[in-house]
This record gives sequence, structure tokens and C-alpha cells, in this order.
Amino acid sequence: MSRYFSLSELTRSSTAAARGIDNTPLPEVTARLQRLIDNLLDPLRERWGRPIRVNSGYRCPELNQAVGGVPTSQHCKGEAADITAGDSEKNRELFEMIRSSSLQFDQLIDESGYAWVHISYSANNRRQVLHL
Ligand SMILES: [Zn+2]
Repeated sequence: MSRYFSLSELTRSSTAAARGIDNTPLPEVTARLQRLIDNLLDPLRERWGRPIRVNSGYRCPELNQAVGGVPTSQHCKGEAADITAGDSEKNRELFEMIRSSSLQFDQLIDESGYAWVHISYSANNRRQVLHL
């Protein structure tokens, strides 16, 4: 399988850069981000066959607060990524492909009418599908 996503894509943040927030993850968080890439994002990208962009991956507590994330967010654990295939129509297609696939995930969330897709991978994947 090809490798598509990098750790830097999952830690970079324009908000963190603009506000001078150090969004460098701890080693255990980095390990979870790598698990997310290896088990979910790369296999997903391979199946999709088209570009997928990460809008937000890891968020340190300060960054999470800055973007209005809930404190218990899986983004803070290195378990989640907000992704987009380009527009809401493509995101809906991507969402349906993930839902109907055999891919393991914890949560798959359609955010704000497919503005983006939130996806997570944890030690105990629930394969929960939500629309927020
Ligand atoms: Zn998210």
C-alpha cells in the first residue's frame, strides 16, 4: 500500500502558527497519529483514489481551546482528523464510501452538512456514525 499522509500534515495548524502556539505532540500522541494514518487514513486514501486534505488533526489543549473544540475531543489525543475531499458533494460521497466500507474507525461524523468529515481511530473502535 502507498503512503499518502505524513505526521506533519496532522500537526500543522494555521491557527497555531498565527497565535504562536506550539502544537508539537508528545511521543504517545505521535504514536496514535501514526496509528490513525496507518490503519485508517492511508487505506482510505488508497480506496478513494483522489486527493483528501486534512483540515485539522492533532490539537494541543491550547489550540483546541482556540478553535472552540470540546475538551474531551479525540483531536487532543491524536485519534482524530477532519478531512475534506474538496466540497460538500465530494465529502458526502467520501462519507458514504467510508460508512459502507470494511474500514475500522471509532467515529465517522458528517460536520455541518458535509462541510468536512470528522474521522477517528482508537483502541476500541465503535464504528459510530453521526451527523452534527
Ligand atoms: Zn473533528
